[in-house]
Amino acid sequence: MNIPELLTELQAYGLRLEGFSDKGGRRGGAGPTDHKAVRLGQATIMVPVHTVASLRSPYAAEEPNILGVSKLFKNEEFVGTIVFPKQPRFYSYATSDGVPFWKIAQLHSHNVLATTVLQNCVRYGDKSTSCQFCAIGESLKQKRTISYKRPFQLAEVARAAVELDGIEQFVITTGTPPTPDRGAKVLCESVKAIKAVVNLPIQVQCEPPADFSWFNRLKLAGADALGMHLEAVEDHVRKKIMPGKAEISVSYYMEAFKAAVAVFGRGQVSTYLLAGLGDSQEALVQMSRELVQIGVYPFVVPFVPVGGTPLENHPTPDKDFMQRVLAQVGSLIAEGGITSTEMKAGCAKCGACSTLKSFEQMTKAVAVA
Ligand code: SF4
Repeated sequence: MNIPELLTELQAYGLRLEGFSDKGGRRGGAGPTDHKAVRLGQATIMVPVHTVASLRSPYAAEEPNILGVSKLFKNEEFVGTIVFPKQPRFYSYATSDGVPFWKIAQLHSHNVLATTVLQNCVRYGDKSTSCQFCAIGESLKQKRTISYKRPFQLAEVARAAVELDGIEQFVITTGTPPTPDRGAKVLCESVKAIKAVVNLPIQVQCEPPADFSWFNRLKLAGADALGMHLEAVEDHVRKKIMPGKAEISVSYYMEAFKAAVAVFGRGQVSTYLLAGLGDSQEALVQMSRELVQIGVYPFVVPFVPVGGTPLENHPTPDKDFMQRVLAQVGSLIAEGGITSTEMKAGCAKCGACSTLKSFEQMTKAVAVA
């Protein structure tokens, strides 16, 4: 099995942590969650470790040694060694008003700072509107975060994370407030404050605002890249999985993408596509083709069911399905010349929640050979 295949299987099945004294990892929050960062060779990926599916995974890791090195087994057979990145140093500090830094922003992968500015969403908590996969309220309920991260708090954490841990980019997402800017305003305020104290590439993520002039304002505030997440693409899947968000049509997203690419540039705008929610391989690939054509990076991620959400028992996508989708989308991205390495900041640049990056690189390697 080659490395991209092994990484894809790990993300699809998850990982059992055998005899770990501290299982750690990030739980709850917006977007993919219940993962732990794992380094295998040169790649760092987020692997599900707290999900129902991961308890049945054929993959298991032993308690790591003091350096974070652990043995990986598949069906009890030794596969190789993996590394669990250490807890970052900035986690030991607090903001000037006394909030622990780890409640403000978290380390993702090994070099990305990530936060959810507004830990509430206009759609969350109501079955008829909420996205069925989302756990944005969970970490707040468990007091592992605060509901609103103020601009100065974000700036203090960002500076410390760069100085103490060599963080290379900041991904800032938000729950959607009940205003037509759909979160763009708090993102502008956050980015401005961070850029005033530290030169760190930032990707902001929100729903498409009602007024596209917000893209200019975000760029002027200092945002380097933008994510607006479709999550699912076929109508029936969108309505079933995210009934509230599905009211924003795919064609409106496409208009927003075009306007955003005009501001941020080709390859600096991206979207999440969660594979495994019901969209067919053809639909995911066709949507990715259309997105690449207009300069948007389709970040295809395997859906991971999160505990405490309505989809917690939803099956994870089949690994062969993931391989087929990722191989095709990876080729489209490489051919379209909007690769993750060219992106200034964002999940696609980080690449830890999907093995898409390695498929993109395989296409480039074949083209060069
Ligand atoms: S891909 Fe995005 S969500 Fe996943 S670890 Fe990286 S920054 Fe975090």
